[in-house]
Amino acid sequence: MSTHAPHTAQPVTLPATLDEAVAALAAQPAAVPVAGGTDLMGAVNGGLLRPTALVGLGRVAELRGWEYRDGHALLGACLTLARMGRPDFAVLMPALAAAARSAGPPQVLNAGTLGGNIISGAPSGDTLPVLAALEAELVIAGADGARREVPVSELLVGREHLRPGELLAYARVPLLHAPQTFLKATGRTGPGRAVASVAVALDPARREVRCAVGAIAQVPLRPLEAEAWIASLVDWDGARTVPPEALAAFGDYVAMACIPDPEPDPATGEVAALSPGLLHLRRTVAALARRGLGRALS
Ligand SMILES: Cc1cc2nc3c(=O)[nH]c(=O)nc-3n(C[C@H](O)[C@H](O)[C@H](O)COP(=O)(O)OP(=O)(O)OC[C@H]3O[C@@H](n4cnc5c(N)ncnc54)[C@H](O)[C@@H]3O)c2cc1C
Repeated sequence: MSTHAPHTAQPVTLPATLDEAVAALAAQPAAVPVAGGTDLMGAVNGGLLRPTALVGLGRVAELRGWEYRDGHALLGACLTLARMGRPDFAVLMPALAAAARSAGPPQVLNAGTLGGNIISGAPSGDTLPVLAALEAELVIAGADGARREVPVSELLVGREHLRPGELLAYARVPLLHAPQTFLKATGRTGPGRAVASVAVALDPARREVRCAVGAIAQVPLRPLEAEAWIASLVDWDGARTVPPEALAAFGDYVAMACIPDPEPDPATGEVAALSPGLLHLRRTVAALARRGLGRALS
């Protein structure tokens, strides 16, 4: 482990292993981990964050790769978005690769990491709906070699959190060997942050269709009833198709579940109209879900 203190007041520790990184955090409880810095340095430059010390994760080789284990892919937290977008990764986890490729301009993809995307937990984080649809688990590393696993959704909704001195080490993602899609809508032409995104994954072994909608709420939303309904229509033993009208109905079902009508007024029983902005968002989600499922089944 090497440490240097440049002219700024922030000591920067650059550990070479995961256990050294955890030890460095334990030694300096106020230190903040930094991976690619694409989110963190934005916060520092914007005056939102003044870390007294940094633990850089860029030299921790074991967190920068990925491997197969027990029917899962174990993805290092420091895997860059650019690496995840490459064809060998896309063959196994097409939706995660598509999300990573769309998560910013090239310089951001080259530096930004999976772990940073998860821990930042921005509603528009592109990997998050995919991880939610795939029901990924996160491996968290603590002092003295301790490891614990938490479902990604538990961390995102705040039922679980990183304890002091812990680091996100890996994401454990099941390999479903079936089509998956990720589609996102942005507020402008070309790349940009998602205003809505939809991940769809087929799980033929469990005869399930999984779907998660990103960016429209603080955390990705799973329309579980819509998933179960469409899965019951899929011809799993044949060509894995559904009637064309079912695709459109699935889109509407997902969108209505995620952006429901307002509750009726308790006094009058009247239901207020959805605002034009929310109506537009609902149509966008419906279109993404319909197309995403259509591509997964085609
Ligand atoms: C111009 C621009 C465009 C962008 N567009 C998109 C976009 O379209 N879609 C999208 O999803 N994102 C986008 N981003 C956001 C960003 O690139 C991602 O969130 C990135 O994945 C963050 O990774 P990082 O390694 O840079 O994280 P960092 O900035 O290093 O860290 C982010 C946070 O995570 C913590 N952290 C990092 N690694 C760990 C770890 N292993 N354990 C514990 N804590 C950790 C840090 O302490 C910090 O709080 C954009 C960013 C920029 C600057």
